[in-house]
Amino acid sequence: MTQDLQGQIALVTGASSGIGFGVAQALADAGAAVAINYHSHGEAAEDLAADIRKAGGQAFAVGADVADEAQIDAMFDSVIQHFGTIDIVVANSGLQKDAPFVDMTLADWHTVMNVNLAGQFLTAQRAVREFLRREPRPVSMALGKIICMSSVHELIPWAGHVNYAASKGGIQMMMKSLAQEVAPHRIRVNAIAPGAIRTPINKAAWDSPQALDKLLKLVPYGRIGEPGDIGRAAVWLASDESDYVVGTTLFVDGGMSLYPGFADNG
Ligand code: NAD
Repeated sequence: MTQDLQGQIALVTGASSGIGFGVAQALADAGAAVAINYHSHGEAAEDLAADIRKAGGQAFAVGADVADEAQIDAMFDSVIQHFGTIDIVVANSGLQKDAPFVDMTLADWHTVMNVNLAGQFLTAQRAVREFLRREPRPVSMALGKIICMSSVHELIPWAGHVNYAASKGGIQMMMKSLAQEVAPHRIRVNAIAPGAIRTPINKAAWDSPQALDKLLKLVPYGRIGEPGDIGRAAVWLASDESDYVVGTTLFVDGGMSLYPGFADNG
């Protein structure tokens, strides 16, 4: 068994920035051919694809709004046309629309649910259909692998972010229920729950020394995470090294989910 993803084909949604960008890069470094989905910032996705190809890998950028079923279908059709099939799908796209609960609009509730939860549902559904369509491939012990990008907020409540925390709580049970349903087909579904990772989504939490200082009080390990921390976890979850890991959320959070407020006797 190996963490080498040579010969495997991966799709990463929301890969033009942040964690998705880091995951796409890490999968390519491990030898996978990578389809880089973007919604906005097509240039960044094209640049990443060009860099991967320059380094000897295979990659292309594909636009789609993951909340739109027709666009999801078109994206999968394009990847299958380009690379033949898909072995690894990382459902990563996500966003925040934060507001105090009494001010949160229904539109902001729906936007977050549509992208974060329905978007991962549609992405995973189309992946499972593709895995079931074809024969097992010699490149992996599993028929296919899905990794859902969750958050520590599938566990930790988050005032002022009720829509976001609810979407990630939803990911937890969607992922586990789906994993239970498709494991008999040797499809492995798992999730990664990142803690505080340095990306555009949470820039205000790390881009000044004061903000970073406050953030690090929540991280026992004492540093902010980087997209590469999540990329390496994704490579492991996508590889045969984790072949017996099914329906698990891997927290990659420097200990953020260890209730650091209780470290000094609470
Ligand atoms: P980011 O803003 O850099 O990335 C989010 C990506 O999702 C972007 O590329 C964006 O274009 C894409 N996206 C948004 N709406 C989309 C849509 N409708 N269709 C397709 N793509 C869409 O932020 P990030 O931190 O890299 O976030 C990636 C994932 O990681 C999200 O699911 C987020 O909830 C999760 N996460 C991030 C952190 C963190 O600390 N950064 C922590 C926990 C979980």
